[in-house]
Amino acid sequence: MTQDRWIIIKYSMRDIGEYDHRSIESKYSKKWVEEAIYHTKDIKKDLRFSIVIPPPNVTGSLHMGHALNVTLQDIICRWQRMLGKSVVWVPGFDHAGIATQYVVDKKLQGEGKNRLDMGREKFLKEVWTWVPISRNSIKEQLERIGVSVDWKRERFTLDEGFSRAVRYAFRKLYEDGLIYRSEYIINWCPRDLTALSDLEVEHEEEEGKLYYIKYPLEDNSGYITVATTRPETMLGDTAVAVHPDDERYRHLIGKRVKLPLVNWKRRSMSGEEVSAYIPVIADQSVLSEFGTGAVKITPAHDPNDFEIGRRHNLPFVKVMDEHARMNENAGEFAGLDRYQAREIILQKLSELGLLEKIEQHRHAVGKCYRCKTTVEPMVSLQWFVKVSDPRIKDGAVNVVKEGKIRFVPEGWKKTYLQWMENLKDWCISRQIWWGHRIPVWYCKSCGRENVFTDDDFDRVYDKIIFNLIADGKIGYEFTPEEVESILHSPSFTHPNITLLEFYKKYAFHKYHSTEVDANSLRLFFSQDLNPMAMLTEKKSRYRYDPGYKKYRFILRCKHCGHEELEQDSDVLDTWFSSALWPFGVFGWPEKTQDLEKLYPTDLLVTGFDIIFFWVARMIMMGTYLMEDIPFSDVYIHALVRDEKGQKMSKTKGNVIDPLDMVERYGADALRFTLAILTQQGRDIKLSEKRFEGYRHFANKLWNAGRFILMNLDGDLLQNLPYGAPPKSEDLWILTKLNRTAQKVNKALSEYEFSEASQALYEFVWGEFCDWYLEMSKLRLYAKADESLPEEERQKQETKIKAERITAQATLLSVFDRILKLLHPFMPYVTQELYSNLPTSYEENISLTEFPLYNPQEVYPDAEEKVERLKGIVSSIRSLRSDLKIEPSKRIRLYYRASQSEKLVEEFRQHLLNLARLEDLQRVDQRPSNALAGFYGDFEFFIPVEEGIKVTELLNSYTKRHQEVLRSLESVERKLKNEEFLKKAPKEEIEKAERMKEELIAEKKKLEELIVLLQEVKPAGASQ
Ligand SMILES: [Zn+2]
Ligand SMILES: [Zn+2]
Repeated sequence: MTQDRWIIIKYSMRDIGEYDHRSIESKYSKKWVEEAIYHTKDIKKDLRFSIVIPPPNVTGSLHMGHALNVTLQDIICRWQRMLGKSVVWVPGFDHAGIATQYVVDKKLQGEGKNRLDMGREKFLKEVWTWVPISRNSIKEQLERIGVSVDWKRERFTLDEGFSRAVRYAFRKLYEDGLIYRSEYIINWCPRDLTALSDLEVEHEEEEGKLYYIKYPLEDNSGYITVATTRPETMLGDTAVAVHPDDERYRHLIGKRVKLPLVNWKRRSMSGEEVSAYIPVIADQSVLSEFGTGAVKITPAHDPNDFEIGRRHNLPFVKVMDEHARMNENAGEFAGLDRYQAREIILQKLSELGLLEKIEQHRHAVGKCYRCKTTVEPMVSLQWFVKVSDPRIKDGAVNVVKEGKIRFVPEGWKKTYLQWMENLKDWCISRQIWWGHRIPVWYCKSCGRENVFTDDDFDRVYDKIIFNLIADGKIGYEFTPEEVESILHSPSFTHPNITLLEFYKKYAFHKYHSTEVDANSLRLFFSQDLNPMAMLTEKKSRYRYDPGYKKYRFILRCKHCGHEELEQDSDVLDTWFSSALWPFGVFGWPEKTQDLEKLYPTDLLVTGFDIIFFWVARMIMMGTYLMEDIPFSDVYIHALVRDEKGQKMSKTKGNVIDPLDMVERYGADALRFTLAILTQQGRDIKLSEKRFEGYRHFANKLWNAGRFILMNLDGDLLQNLPYGAPPKSEDLWILTKLNRTAQKVNKALSEYEFSEASQALYEFVWGEFCDWYLEMSKLRLYAKADESLPEEERQKQETKIKAERITAQATLLSVFDRILKLLHPFMPYVTQELYSNLPTSYEENISLTEFPLYNPQEVYPDAEEKVERLKGIVSSIRSLRSDLKIEPSKRIRLYYRASQSEKLVEEFRQHLLNLARLEDLQRVDQRPSNALAGFYGDFEFFIPVEEGIKVTELLNSYTKRHQEVLRSLESVERKLKNEEFLKKAPKEEIEKAERMKEELIAEKKKLEELIVLLQEVKPAGASQ
C-alpha cells in the first residue's frame, strides 16, 4: 500500500449526502477554466503530449458527434497528463465560410435585410457581431462537457495571426508554382452563388429522363440523334462527338450539323462569335453504348465536355448566369430559369419534329451539400492548389505508406491512399464574403497578379497597417484615430487583450516595444510624406488627402510599379485555413517556442466524413510547408446513430442533444456512455436509456464513497502503523485493482475506449462494490463481546481496532485509485469524491498520478481463494433463488468438502453473511430431505424445512418446461423454414437463433431442477 505519500490530516467523519451532478458539475466546470489548471507553461519537449481540437464551426451548437469527439480526446489528454506528460490541447473555432455566411444571411433576411443591398463591408460587420455570441455559447458547452483544453492557447481560423498564416501559405504555394488561376469547370451552386469543391457536392440517384434530339446534317442528308438528360444546355453546344471506332458514325466525322432552334448570335467566353453549325468530332472518351452513341458537347456546362472541348479546341459558350438563368447566348430563352427553359425547348423541338423520343432514366444528380440545390457545372476563372503535383502529393502519400502517420482503425489507411491516388487539383476560391480574402492584387496597368504579405514591408507599422487592410479591418484610406481605436479594441480570440497585444504576441513578438497611439501614427505616416523621403529608393508608403483628412496606404505593382491595384474579391475555401490548423495554432510562420516544442502533434481525433476534406489536406500542407507530419496518430471515430442504427437528423426527430443529457444525467454519465460504446470500426447506437444506465454507475460510485467516508475513524491515518496484517480479501482486491489498472492503461494506449471503460465498470461495480465493500463490513462493524471479563474484552477491542484500521486503509487506498482510474472518463464526480478523501494531498485529481500496474501488489493465492469463495456464494445464492427462498431469510446449510474445507474455515463468517446463512454445518453424508448443489468439491444441502415448497415448485417448473419445449419447437421450425431464411432480415434470423440458444439453456436448467426436486419427498401433507 502506498501509505508513505499520505499526508497526516485529522479527518472527521461526515456524510457527503446524495449524489447531485448539477451542483458538482457547475462548481468545477467554471473553476477549472478560471484557474487555468490545463494551461501548460513549461513544456518538457521529450515528455510532451500535443493535440489540436478539430475546431467546431462558429455556427450553431454542439451535437452528439462533437460530444463524442471531445470526450475521446479528453480521456486521452487527462490520462496522458496523469502519466506525467506536458499536455497541451489547443482549442479553437472554425469560421466556416459558406455555413456562417448562410446562417447570418438567413438571420438578416428574417429582419427584412438583404446582404446584397448592404454590401460587403456592412455585411461582414454583421457577421463579426454575431460570431462571438455563437462562439461563446459553444465554448460554454465544451466547458460543461469538461474538456481539459488550454484556453489560453485558443485560436480562431480568422484571427489576425491565423489570417496572416493563411496569406503566407498562399504566397509560398503561389511562388512555388503550386497555386494557379485558371478557367475551369467547377460546381456552381446557383443559390449560394459560389463554387463548390468536388467534395461539397453530394450525388443523389434520381428518376430522370433521357431526351433523344435530332440534329439535322448541314447537307440535309439526314440527322444525327443525340441523347441528353439536360436539353437546355444544347444552346451552348459547340460539337457533336462520337467514338472513332463507331461504325455507325464513322462517315459523318468532319461534317457539320445545324444546332436546332439557335438562330441568334452566340459568343464564346473569349468573345468570338460562334456558329450554330457545329462539327461532328471523334473522341475516345465517348461511350458508344450510351443513348445513340452520339453525344452533344457543351464545354462550358459539363465536366466531361469541358475536357473534350479542351482537347479539340472547341469554343466555350456559356448559356447561363450565376443564378442558373439563361443568358443572352440563349437568345429567345434569355432570362428564363434553366428548368423553365427546358420545358419550352422540348415543346419547340417536338413541334419541329426533332424530339425523337423520351426514355425514363435513373441517374446521379449533383446537389449542393449545404442547400441541396442542383449544382450547375460552369466554366469560370478560379484559383487552384496543384495538389496533384508530386511535390505535394508524394510527401502526403509516403508518410502514410511508411507508417509515420498511423490511422486507427487501420482500414482507413487504404481509403486514404486510394483517394490520394486519384487526386484532382483543389479549387480554393469561393465567391462569398466571409472568409480569408484571396491575397492577390491585380494591377490595373499591366494586368498582372501580385501576392502580398507583410514580408513586403520592413517597418512594423507598415506590417500592421497592411494586415489590418488585408483582414478588412480598415479600408485603404484611414485616419490615425481609426487605426488607434481598432488596435486598442479587444482581440476576438482573447478579449482580455487588445488587438495590438495580440499582434505582438502571435505575429510580431520580435517588436515588443511597439506602442501605438494616434500621434505616433500621424508622425509615422507624415515621415513618408516628407519630400526628402519620397526621393529615397523606398518610396513613401502613405499619401495624405487633405480634403478627406485621411491617409492612404499604397501598394505598388511588383511588375510595373503602378499604384492602382485591386484585390481579388473571392475568399478562400474554409478548408484552406483548416489545413494549416496543426501548425497555424502554434504561431507559424513565426518560429515560436510552441511551434518548436509542440509540432508535430501526437494525435488527431476526428470523424471519417472529413478524412478527405480535412485530414488529407492537413497532411499535404504539413508535409509541404513544415516538412514534417502534422500528427503521428489519427483516430477515426464512428458515427453516432439512434438506437435503431439510423442517422440522427432533425427531420426524423431522433436527435439526442448532448446538453440535454448533461442536464438530465450529468456530463460524467454522458462521457462514460459515449466511451463505453466506442468500439473501433462500429457505429454507436444511442438511446436515452443508455445515459440513464450509466448515471446509475456514477451514483453507485458516489454511494461507495459515501459509505467509506462514513466508516472512517478520525485517527485512521495516525494509527496506520498499528493496523493488523491484511486479510485475503484485502490482497485479493489489491490484485484485482492492479489487473484493472493494467487493462485500462493498455486499452487506452490502443485507443480501445470501450475496453477501458468496461474494465473499470466491472471492477468498480462487480468486484469492489458488490464484494469487497460487503466483506469489509465484518471488520468495520465488529464489536467486542460485552460479557467478557474486562481484561479479555480490552484485548479483543485492540484486535478489532487493528483489523478495522486495515480494512479502512484498504478501502481508502483502493478507492483513491479507483477515482484516479475513472477520472479521465468521469472528471466531475471523481474530483468531488477525491476532494473529500483524507488522502487528497493534491487539490486537483487531474494533476495526480495515474495508477499503473504494480507487480508487487499482486497476490495470486489470495486471488484464487476469494474467487473460489465467490463461486461458492454465487452457487448457494443461485440455488436459493431457484428454490424461491426469500433473499432476506437466513437459512441453515449443510456442506461436504475436501480441499475447500480450509477455505470454509477461513471465510466462515463471510459465508454466513454473503449467503445469508443462519448456520453452516459440516456433514459426512448427504442429509435426507435436503436439496443439493455444488461448486467444485464444495457440496451443499438446503433442508426442505427451510420453507421450500417442493410440490409447488415442481408444478411450476414442469409447466414452464412444457412451455419452453413448445417455444423451442416453434423457433426450430422457423429456423428450418427455407422461406423465412430467404426473406427475413438478417437481424430477425439472428434474433431467432439467439432465442433458440436461450431456450435450450433454460430447458437444461429446468430439467436439472426437476430432477433435484423429485429427489426429495414433499414435506407436510398440505403440499
Ligand atoms: Zn447551395
Ligand atoms: Zn503592373
